[in-house]
Amino acid sequence: MARSVLVTGGNRGIGLAIARELQAAGDAVAVTYRSGEPPEGFFAVKCDVTSWEDVDTAFGKIEAEQGPVEVVVANAGVTQDQLLALMSEEKFTSVLDTNLTGSFRVAKRAVKGMMKMRRGRMVFISSVVGLSGSGGQANYAASKAGMVGMARSLARELGSRNITANVVAPGFVNTDMTAVLDDKLQDTIKQNIPLKRQAEPEEIAKVVRFLASDDASYITGAVIPVDGGLGMGH
Ligand code: NDP
Repeated sequence: MARSVLVTGGNRGIGLAIARELQAAGDAVAVTYRSGEPPEGFFAVKCDVTSWEDVDTAFGKIEAEQGPVEVVVANAGVTQDQLLALMSEEKFTSVLDTNLTGSFRVAKRAVKGMMKMRRGRMVFISSVVGLSGSGGQANYAASKAGMVGMARSLARELGSRNITANVVAPGFVNTDMTAVLDDKLQDTIKQNIPLKRQAEPEEIAKVVRFLASDDASYITGAVIPVDGGLGMGH
Protein backbone atom coordinates (compact mmCIF):
# COMPACT_ATOMS: atom_id res chain seq x y z
CA MET A 1 0.00 0.00 0.00
CA ALA A 2 1.19 3.50 -0.79
CA ARG A 3 2.55 5.45 2.18
CA SER A 4 0.62 8.49 3.33
CA VAL A 5 2.83 11.56 2.85
CA LEU A 6 2.29 15.23 3.67
CA VAL A 7 4.33 18.11 2.29
CA THR A 8 3.55 21.53 3.77
CA GLY A 9 3.75 24.39 1.30
CA GLY A 10 3.54 21.81 -1.46
CA ASN A 11 1.77 24.14 -3.86
CA ARG A 12 4.90 25.71 -5.36
CA GLY A 13 8.68 25.90 -5.31
CA ILE A 14 10.67 23.30 -3.42
CA GLY A 15 7.56 21.85 -1.75
CA LEU A 16 5.87 21.13 -5.08
CA ALA A 17 9.05 19.48 -6.41
CA ILE A 18 9.19 17.29 -3.28
CA ALA A 19 5.52 16.36 -3.64
CA ARG A 20 6.07 15.38 -7.28
CA GLU A 21 9.19 13.38 -6.49
CA LEU A 22 7.52 11.38 -3.71
CA GLN A 23 4.41 10.80 -5.78
CA ALA A 24 6.57 9.49 -8.63
CA ALA A 25 8.18 7.12 -6.11
CA GLY A 26 4.74 5.63 -5.41
CA ASP A 27 3.57 7.48 -2.31
CA ALA A 28 0.10 8.92 -1.73
CA VAL A 29 1.01 12.58 -1.38
CA ALA A 30 -1.06 15.32 0.20
CA VAL A 31 0.02 18.94 0.16
CA THR A 32 -1.00 21.99 2.10
CA TYR A 33 -1.38 25.35 0.46
CA ARG A 34 -1.96 28.64 2.21
CA SER A 35 -3.02 30.91 -0.65
CA GLY A 36 -3.71 30.75 -4.36
CA GLU A 37 -4.88 27.62 -6.09
CA PRO A 38 -4.10 24.06 -5.00
CA PRO A 39 -1.71 22.28 -7.36
CA GLU A 40 -3.24 19.72 -9.72
CA GLY A 41 -2.77 16.02 -9.10
CA PHE A 42 -2.52 16.07 -5.30
CA PHE A 43 -4.90 15.84 -2.39
CA ALA A 44 -4.61 19.45 -1.26
CA VAL A 45 -5.77 21.02 1.98
CA LYS A 46 -5.74 24.71 2.78
CA CYS A 47 -3.65 25.31 5.88
CA ASP A 48 -1.71 28.09 7.49
CA VAL A 49 0.99 26.52 9.67
CA THR A 50 0.84 29.45 12.11
CA SER A 51 -2.53 28.08 13.28
CA TRP A 52 -2.72 24.89 15.35
CA GLU A 53 -6.39 24.58 14.43
CA ASP A 54 -5.56 24.69 10.70
CA VAL A 55 -2.80 22.09 11.12
CA ASP A 56 -5.02 19.79 13.17
CA THR A 57 -7.91 20.08 10.69
CA ALA A 58 -5.60 19.48 7.72
CA PHE A 59 -4.22 16.31 9.28
CA GLY A 60 -7.76 15.10 10.02
CA LYS A 61 -8.71 15.50 6.35
CA ILE A 62 -5.53 13.85 5.12
CA GLU A 63 -5.89 10.91 7.50
CA ALA A 64 -9.46 10.38 6.29
CA GLU A 65 -8.32 10.49 2.65
CA GLN A 66 -5.10 8.45 2.67
CA GLY A 67 -4.49 7.15 6.18
CA PRO A 68 -2.18 8.27 8.99
CA VAL A 69 0.76 10.32 7.81
CA GLU A 70 3.91 8.21 7.68
CA VAL A 71 6.19 10.76 6.03
CA VAL A 72 5.95 14.45 6.84
CA VAL A 73 7.99 17.14 5.13
CA ALA A 74 7.96 20.48 6.98
CA ASN A 75 8.74 22.76 4.07
CA ALA A 76 6.50 25.83 4.46
CA GLY A 77 8.65 28.88 5.06
CA VAL A 78 9.00 32.61 4.61
CA THR A 79 11.65 35.31 4.64
CA GLN A 80 11.24 38.88 5.87
CA ASP A 81 14.75 40.26 5.54
CA GLN A 82 15.86 43.35 7.40
CA LEU A 83 18.97 44.60 9.17
CA LEU A 84 18.80 44.04 12.92
CA ALA A 85 18.60 47.71 13.91
CA LEU A 86 15.58 48.15 11.64
CA MET A 87 13.91 44.81 12.28
CA SER A 88 10.68 45.03 14.24
CA GLU A 89 9.96 42.44 16.88
CA GLU A 90 6.92 41.45 14.84
CA LYS A 91 9.13 40.75 11.81
CA PHE A 92 11.31 38.54 13.95
CA THR A 93 8.59 36.59 15.70
CA SER A 94 6.38 36.13 12.64
CA VAL A 95 9.20 34.42 10.71
CA LEU A 96 9.90 32.24 13.75
CA ASP A 97 6.18 31.46 14.03
CA THR A 98 5.95 30.20 10.45
CA ASN A 99 9.29 28.49 9.97
CA LEU A 100 10.08 27.07 13.39
CA THR A 101 6.86 26.94 15.42
CA GLY A 102 4.99 25.97 12.23
CA SER A 103 7.31 22.97 11.83
CA PHE A 104 6.79 22.14 15.50
CA ARG A 105 3.00 22.18 15.05
CA VAL A 106 3.22 19.91 12.04
CA ALA A 107 5.63 17.48 13.72
CA LYS A 108 3.58 17.43 16.92
CA ARG A 109 0.40 16.59 15.02
CA ALA A 110 2.18 13.96 12.89
CA VAL A 111 3.82 12.14 15.76
CA LYS A 112 0.57 10.79 17.21
CA GLY A 113 -0.09 8.55 14.21
CA MET A 114 3.57 7.68 13.75
CA MET A 115 3.88 6.44 17.34
CA LYS A 116 0.86 4.21 16.85
CA MET A 117 2.33 2.82 13.60
CA ARG A 118 5.75 2.56 15.21
CA ARG A 119 7.33 4.04 12.12
CA GLY A 120 7.68 7.43 10.53
CA ARG A 121 9.90 9.88 8.70
CA MET A 122 10.15 13.56 9.45
CA VAL A 123 12.11 15.80 7.11
CA PHE A 124 12.63 19.46 7.96
CA ILE A 125 13.59 21.92 5.22
CA SER A 126 16.06 24.26 6.87
CA SER A 127 18.68 26.34 5.05
CA VAL A 128 22.40 26.79 4.69
CA VAL A 129 22.03 30.11 6.51
CA GLY A 130 20.78 28.35 9.63
CA LEU A 131 24.36 27.20 10.11
CA SER A 132 26.40 29.94 8.48
CA GLY A 133 24.25 32.97 9.34
CA SER A 134 23.36 35.68 6.88
CA GLY A 135 23.41 39.46 7.25
CA GLY A 136 19.88 40.85 7.12
CA GLN A 137 18.36 37.48 7.95
CA ALA A 138 18.66 37.19 11.74
CA ASN A 139 15.01 36.10 11.97
CA TYR A 140 15.21 33.59 9.11
CA ALA A 141 18.59 32.15 10.13
CA ALA A 142 17.44 31.78 13.75
CA SER A 143 14.33 29.94 12.63
CA LYS A 144 16.34 27.61 10.39
CA ALA A 145 18.97 26.92 13.09
CA GLY A 146 16.13 26.19 15.49
CA MET A 147 14.85 23.51 13.15
CA VAL A 148 18.19 21.70 13.50
CA GLY A 149 17.98 21.66 17.30
CA MET A 150 14.37 20.57 17.15
CA ALA A 151 14.96 17.78 14.63
CA ARG A 152 17.91 16.45 16.57
CA SER A 153 15.85 16.44 19.77
CA LEU A 154 13.09 14.56 17.98
CA ALA A 155 15.62 12.09 16.60
CA ARG A 156 16.61 11.27 20.18
CA GLU A 157 13.07 11.31 21.51
CA LEU A 158 11.52 9.15 18.81
CA GLY A 159 14.29 6.84 17.64
CA SER A 160 13.08 3.97 19.79
CA ARG A 161 9.74 4.16 17.95
CA ASN A 162 11.46 3.78 14.58
CA ILE A 163 10.76 7.40 13.68
CA THR A 164 13.60 9.33 12.06
CA ALA A 165 13.97 13.12 11.99
CA ASN A 166 16.37 14.68 9.53
CA VAL A 167 17.12 18.11 8.14
CA VAL A 168 17.83 19.16 4.58
CA ALA A 169 19.74 22.42 4.30
CA PRO A 170 19.37 23.82 0.77
CA GLY A 171 21.58 26.61 -0.50
CA PHE A 172 20.40 28.96 -3.22
CA VAL A 173 17.43 27.47 -5.05
CA ASN A 174 15.60 28.71 -8.13
CA THR A 175 12.14 29.55 -6.71
CA ASP A 176 9.93 32.58 -6.10
CA MET A 177 11.77 33.12 -2.79
CA THR A 178 15.07 33.91 -4.54
CA ALA A 179 13.60 35.41 -7.73
CA VAL A 180 12.85 38.59 -5.78
CA LEU A 181 16.56 39.24 -5.16
CA ASP A 182 18.12 41.69 -7.58
CA ASP A 183 20.35 40.33 -10.36
CA LYS A 184 23.53 41.78 -8.90
CA LEU A 185 23.00 40.07 -5.56
CA GLN A 186 22.12 36.82 -7.31
CA ASP A 187 25.41 36.99 -9.27
CA THR A 188 27.40 37.67 -6.09
CA ILE A 189 25.81 34.68 -4.35
CA LYS A 190 26.53 32.44 -7.34
CA GLN A 191 30.19 33.51 -7.33
CA ASN A 192 30.44 32.19 -3.75
CA ILE A 193 28.98 28.81 -4.65
CA PRO A 194 31.63 26.27 -5.69
CA LEU A 195 29.23 24.87 -8.31
CA LYS A 196 28.61 28.46 -9.54
CA ARG A 197 24.88 28.09 -10.04
CA GLN A 198 21.54 27.88 -8.28
CA ALA A 199 19.94 24.55 -7.48
CA GLU A 200 16.76 23.54 -9.19
CA PRO A 201 13.99 22.52 -6.73
CA GLU A 202 14.17 18.94 -8.05
CA GLU A 203 17.74 18.65 -6.76
CA ILE A 204 16.45 19.25 -3.23
CA ALA A 205 13.49 16.95 -3.76
CA LYS A 206 15.65 13.96 -4.68
CA VAL A 207 17.49 14.18 -1.35
CA VAL A 208 14.19 14.36 0.52
CA ARG A 209 13.01 11.31 -1.39
CA PHE A 210 16.15 9.47 -0.30
CA LEU A 211 15.73 10.45 3.37
CA ALA A 212 12.14 9.24 3.26
CA SER A 213 13.10 5.94 1.61
CA ASP A 214 14.11 2.57 3.05
CA ASP A 215 17.65 3.29 1.85
CA ALA A 216 17.92 5.91 4.63
CA SER A 217 16.69 3.59 7.39
CA TYR A 218 19.76 4.21 9.58
CA ILE A 219 19.96 7.99 9.15
CA THR A 220 18.49 10.20 11.84
CA GLY A 221 19.44 13.56 13.35
CA ALA A 222 21.43 14.34 10.20
CA VAL A 223 21.72 17.71 8.49
CA ILE A 224 22.23 17.15 4.78
CA PRO A 225 23.50 20.17 2.85
CA VAL A 226 22.23 20.47 -0.72
CA ASP A 227 23.95 23.71 -1.51
CA GLY A 228 26.54 23.30 -4.26
CA GLY A 229 29.23 23.64 -1.61
CA LEU A 230 28.10 27.05 -0.36
CA GLY A 231 28.06 26.05 3.30
CA MET A 232 31.21 23.94 3.38
CA GLY A 233 32.92 24.06 6.75
CA HIS A 234 29.85 24.95 8.78
P1 NDP B 1 8.48 29.75 -1.93
O1 NDP B 1 8.41 31.15 -1.45
O2 NDP B 1 8.52 29.46 -3.39
O3 NDP B 1 7.29 28.87 -1.27
C1 NDP B 1 7.05 28.94 0.10
C2 NDP B 1 5.97 27.94 0.43
O4 NDP B 1 5.68 28.01 1.83
C3 NDP B 1 4.66 28.26 -0.29
O5 NDP B 1 4.00 27.08 -0.59
C4 NDP B 1 3.89 29.04 0.77
O6 NDP B 1 2.49 29.01 0.62
C5 NDP B 1 4.30 28.26 2.01
N1 NDP B 1 4.04 29.02 3.22
C6 NDP B 1 4.60 30.17 3.62
N2 NDP B 1 4.07 30.57 4.79
C7 NDP B 1 3.17 29.65 5.14
C8 NDP B 1 2.27 29.49 6.22
N3 NDP B 1 2.21 30.39 7.23
N4 NDP B 1 1.48 28.40 6.26
C9 NDP B 1 1.51 27.51 5.27
N5 NDP B 1 2.32 27.59 4.20
C10 NDP B 1 3.12 28.65 4.13
O7 NDP B 1 9.75 29.15 -1.21
P2 NDP B 1 10.74 27.95 -1.57
O8 NDP B 1 10.03 26.88 -2.30
O9 NDP B 1 11.96 28.54 -2.11
O10 NDP B 1 11.08 27.48 -0.07
C11 NDP B 1 10.58 26.28 0.51
C12 NDP B 1 11.36 26.04 1.79
O11 NDP B 1 12.74 25.90 1.47
C13 NDP B 1 11.24 27.19 2.78
O12 NDP B 1 11.17 26.67 4.10
C14 NDP B 1 12.55 27.94 2.58
O13 NDP B 1 12.92 28.64 3.72
C15 NDP B 1 13.48 26.80 2.26
N6 NDP B 1 14.68 27.21 1.54
C16 NDP B 1 14.61 27.84 0.33
C17 NDP B 1 15.78 28.22 -0.31
C18 NDP B 1 15.78 28.91 -1.64
O14 NDP B 1 16.87 29.33 -2.07
N7 NDP B 1 14.67 29.05 -2.32
C19 NDP B 1 17.09 27.98 0.30
C20 NDP B 1 17.05 27.29 1.55
C21 NDP B 1 15.88 26.93 2.14
P3 NDP B 1 1.77 30.15 -0.29
O15 NDP B 1 1.91 29.72 -1.72
O16 NDP B 1 0.39 30.18 0.17
O17 NDP B 1 2.50 31.45 -0.03
